[in-house]
Amino acid sequence: MFQPPDFKQLSKQILCYTTADVEKALSCQRPDLHDIGALLSPAAEPYLQQMAKLSSEITLNRFGKTTQLYAPIYLSNYCTNRCVYCGFSADNHIKRKCLTLDEAEKEAEILHERGFQHILLVSGEAENAVNIDYMEAIAIRLRDKFAAVSIEIQPLSTEDYHRLFLAGITAVAVYQETYNRDLYKKVHLSGKKSDYDYRLKTPARAAAAGMREVGIGPLLGLSDWRAEGLSIAYHLHWLRKQFWSTAFTVSFPRMRPATGEFEPLQPVSERNLSQLIFALRLFDPDVGLLVSTREEARYRDGMIGLGPTRYSAGSCTAPGGYGNSDSEGEQFSVGDNRTLEEVCEAIREKGFDPVYKDWDSEFQHTA
Ligand code: SF4
Repeated sequence: MFQPPDFKQLSKQILCYTTADVEKALSCQRPDLHDIGALLSPAAEPYLQQMAKLSSEITLNRFGKTTQLYAPIYLSNYCTNRCVYCGFSADNHIKRKCLTLDEAEKEAEILHERGFQHILLVSGEAENAVNIDYMEAIAIRLRDKFAAVSIEIQPLSTEDYHRLFLAGITAVAVYQETYNRDLYKKVHLSGKKSDYDYRLKTPARAAAAGMREVGIGPLLGLSDWRAEGLSIAYHLHWLRKQFWSTAFTVSFPRMRPATGEFEPLQPVSERNLSQLIFALRLFDPDVGLLVSTREEARYRDGMIGLGPTRYSAGSCTAPGGYGNSDSEGEQFSVGDNRTLEEVCEAIREKGFDPVYKDWDSEFQHTA
């Protein structure tokens, strides 16, 4: 079972790297866990341009001139957890809604008509609203329409993940939010999510169930981003050793304004975010790196080709929001409001190809 190194120790360790450590990390073929610490440290900040160049070269070699695209569908904003930073927290008085199967399919059809081939089904964590039977039924309805259907819902058992895999789900995203165990307790006040270890073991359960791809990530703004980055590297390194045939992705959600008006405890700048993305790319050339519409268009356009491999586009974070733009109860407000076509245009302007599919659900049915 994976156990990350002590978070406070990592935070301290990261401040001790020197210029020589950074230069060594930049000159080696494949930075190891010690090297990525150097690349995440304050000592690496003057080397950001060099890191960007290397990250861009590696990304180009491994992924070509492409940026993959996906869109989330929010199925439900019911949640039994009390996460202090989230608009869906059980504490917040927002209009709650769980889409019926027909409503979910309608939302999916709208995205399909807009050209999306990869969708991410998202929900709050409330089993009386979204449970395994509901998810299985949705997966069966949608699997032939889309090349890839991913989920970001409550953590499940290996058996349930396998059931969803057989129903057509290709990937699971489950974010630890923070690897800082002490802080984790303070920001997850109650509900199943308050169990740090159960959540930490979830990516391994999803991979063991046969999922093609598993996504991990911290919620940036809760704790020391440098130590979060190093913890992610440890987690990724462990997962790769256990599940060599699974594809892994890392997301970098930065906190956005949400109901409850929780302010980031440790704000992360765009420069910090870029350093984190470049360091991870140098550490793991194969990992998919996601930048969502939480970030503004200007930043996302500037990062095309420099490390990220997948963008969300045209996103709405309220259940039913694609069919009804007046829908209330969004999880957070997005930073990039452009349509899919506008995002594709920006990608093309950079000389890259927008990619709608890199997988076909047909492969999964015959697996
Ligand atoms: S972060 Fe997830 S689990 Fe926590 S309140 Fe929001 S939807 Fe619920």
